[in-house]
Amino acid sequence: MPVIGCECRVCRSLDYRDKRLRVSVHLEVNGKSLIIDSGPDFRQQMLRERIKRVDALLFTHEHKDHTAGLDDIRAFNFMQHLDMPLYADPRVLRQLQQEFSYIFTNSTYPGVPRVELHAIGNKAFEVEGIPVLPITVMHHKLPVFGFRIGDFTYITDANYIAPEEKEKIKGSKVLVINALRKEPHISHFSFGEALDLVKEINPEKAFFTHISHLLGLHREVEEEMPPHIRLAYDGLSFTL
Ligand SMILES: [Zn+2]
Ligand SMILES: [Zn+2]
Ligand SMILES: [Zn+2]
Repeated sequence: MPVIGCECRVCRSLDYRDKRLRVSVHLEVNGKSLIIDSGPDFRQQMLRERIKRVDALLFTHEHKDHTAGLDDIRAFNFMQHLDMPLYADPRVLRQLQQEFSYIFTNSTYPGVPRVELHAIGNKAFEVEGIPVLPITVMHHKLPVFGFRIGDFTYITDANYIAPEEKEKIKGSKVLVINALRKEPHISHFSFGEALDLVKEINPEKAFFTHISHLLGLHREVEEEMPPHIRLAYDGLSFTL
């Protein structure tokens, strides 16, 4: 992600793949539309991808780069006449209730986002009839959810995954995993750690996400990677 005020090669790059917004993913499964995380760029991402319908939002954890855009679900409330279902750990739901207190205290005021809270734990659940398997991963000391939906596993903000949680990922065709930078980091996998993890899990294809400007230019970094592991970029889409 480019950093405000930074003049490094990545932040000045003209390659669209280096112009990263905060991480999020849009899934279309059985005619349903799901989003994982609504960071500060949520509005811009919904506009860019022309998303017209969202059936539910899932949250990995409460950090602002994953939640700050929640207010903009108002457009979907309005278009779909629904209270947006939010799925998250109870700890994350409590944090959302604090940080977006106006949503929960002024719920009769027109124009305030309307939400429906669903607490999830570390066991399989369904969203709109779609089976979702949460995977608890560690983000330094904070437990965070990754999600497996069919053969797709999405894990952001992790630097440790316990063996029993790794077992849940195995067999995925596509794994998305965070790789922040080359240097080790206290709460994110480094590039080398992410490569090792992909080797261990052995999916058909893997994408690195949550990439810092410190990782390097998209074009140059990909040259160092095996062909089945790629760097994700904004707007990347694929079908499983
Ligand atoms: Zn930079
Ligand atoms: Zn985080
Ligand atoms: Zn993050």
